[in-house]
Amino acid sequence: MKLGWGPKEEAFRAELVAFLDEQAPPEALVQRDFDSIEDDSGDIIPAWSRKWQSTLFDHGWMIPAYPAELGGRNCTPIQTLAYLEEMARRSIPRSFHFPGYAIVAPSLLEFGTSEQQTLAPAAIRGDTVWCIGMSEPNAGSDLAGIQTRAAVHDDHFVVNGQKVWTSYAMVAQKCFCYVRTNPDVPKHKGISLLIVDMDTPGIEIRPLRHITGAASFAEVFFTDVVVARENLVGGLDDGWRITQGSLAHERAGLWVESVSRLEYTVGSLIALARRRGLDRDPVVRRRLAEMYERAASLRALGYKGFASFAQGSSAPEHSFMKMATSELGQECFELGVEMQGAYGTVVDGERSEESGRWAHSFFVSFASTIAGGSSEIQRNIIAQRVLGLPRG
Ligand SMILES: Cc1cc2nc3c(=O)[nH]c(=O)nc-3n(C[C@H](O)[C@H](O)[C@H](O)COP(=O)(O)OP(=O)(O)OC[C@H]3O[C@@H](n4cnc5c(N)ncnc54)[C@H](O)[C@@H]3O)c2cc1C
Repeated sequence: MKLGWGPKEEAFRAELVAFLDEQAPPEALVQRDFDSIEDDSGDIIPAWSRKWQSTLFDHGWMIPAYPAELGGRNCTPIQTLAYLEEMARRSIPRSFHFPGYAIVAPSLLEFGTSEQQTLAPAAIRGDTVWCIGMSEPNAGSDLAGIQTRAAVHDDHFVVNGQKVWTSYAMVAQKCFCYVRTNPDVPKHKGISLLIVDMDTPGIEIRPLRHITGAASFAEVFFTDVVVARENLVGGLDDGWRITQGSLAHERAGLWVESVSRLEYTVGSLIALARRRGLDRDPVVRRRLAEMYERAASLRALGYKGFASFAQGSSAPEHSFMKMATSELGQECFELGVEMQGAYGTVVDGERSEESGRWAHSFFVSFASTIAGGSSEIQRNIIAQRVLGLPRG
C-alpha cells in the first residue's frame, strides 16, 4: 500500500506553495515553538500578523473549507489537511489571535441569528479581535459553575461578575461571554452566551502576566454592564450546548500544528544534544529516541482521528492529542533545559543556547497543558468517552 496525496491534492498544494512563496512575510517564516503569547517585539498581535491574516483571507487561504466570502475556497477535508500540513511544515502561523476565526466565527455561523452571522467575516479576517469569557475564579474545569450573572430585562441584560484568564481581553473589541441567566435550574441549564462590546461602560480589564513576563490574558470585571437583547447568541439558557461546540471547533485542526511543532522541537533537541556532546550519552539517546517515536505515533493517531472527522464522525482522538502533544512538548523543553546544565534555566542571550529558547518554551509549556482544558480533564474525557470507564 502506498500512502500519499493524489494528483488533485498535489495540484492544490502547488497552488498554495506558489502563494506562500510570493506572499508570506519574512516574520511568518521564523520557526517558533509557540505562535501565540507574543512575538519578539513583545506585541501580542504584531502588526505584520494582522496584515498577513487579512491577506490569507482575501486570497481564500484563511479557512480553505469555507466559501470565498468567509476567507476560503470550498476545499474538501483532504485538501484542508494538505493545507494545514503545508502551513505547519513551514511553520507559518495563520493568526496570532485564534478565538475569532477558530471559535467565535464557527459558533456564530452555527448558532447565531442572520444579523450575528454578519460578524463572522471580520472575525476570520482578524479585523475584529475577540476574546472568550468562559473561565472565572471559581469556574474553570467546571465551566458549568460560572457565576457571572446577567439579569434578564425586556430588551436588555445587565451583567455583573468577573472573568479570568481572558486571552486578548486588553486588545479585543468584542467578548463571547458566558453568563448565568437562570440561577434556579440545574447549573448546566441556566447559562447563556452574550456578545459584549469591550468598550461598554462598566467593564474593567486588569492584565495578568505569564511566568515569561508576557501579558496576553487578563481579569475582566463587569459592573452593571448593559447588553442589548439582540446580542444573545442561541436561545436563552441554552449556552451550554454552544460551549460544547466551541471547544470542538478549537480542537479539530489544532493537532496538525501541534504535531508538526513537536517534530520540529524533537529535531532541534537532537541538534542540541550533538552540540552539547551528549549524543553518545545512553540516557539522553534513549529519551530522544522515545520522544521521536512518540511524536511519530501522534502523527499517525492524528490521521486516524482526521479520517473519522472527515467522514462526519466525532474524533475522540483529539482529546488525547491535545493532552499528549502538550505534555510531550513540555518533556522535550525540560530535557533541552537539563542538557545545558545551570545556564539552561535562564533566558540569557549569551550563555544559554538559542537565546534561552528552551527555558522560555518550558515556561510557556505549562500554559499549553492547562489552556483549553487541562490534562487532567482530558484524561477524564478519555477514560469515559474513549475507554468507556465509569465516572470517577
Ligand atoms: C494561556 C491560557 C489562556 C487561557 N485563555 C482563556 C480564555 O481566553 N478564556 C477563558 O475563558 N479561559 C482561558 N483560560 C483558562 C483555562 O480554560 C482554565 O485555566 C482551565 O480551564 C482550568 O481551569 P482553572 O484554571 O480554573 O483550574 P481548576 O479548574 O481550578 O483546576 C485546578 C487543577 O485541578 C484539576 N482538576 C479540576 N477538576 C478536576 C477533575 N474533575 N478531575 C481531575 N482534576 C481536576 C485541574 O486539572 C487543575 O490541575 C486560559 C488559560 C491559560 C493557561
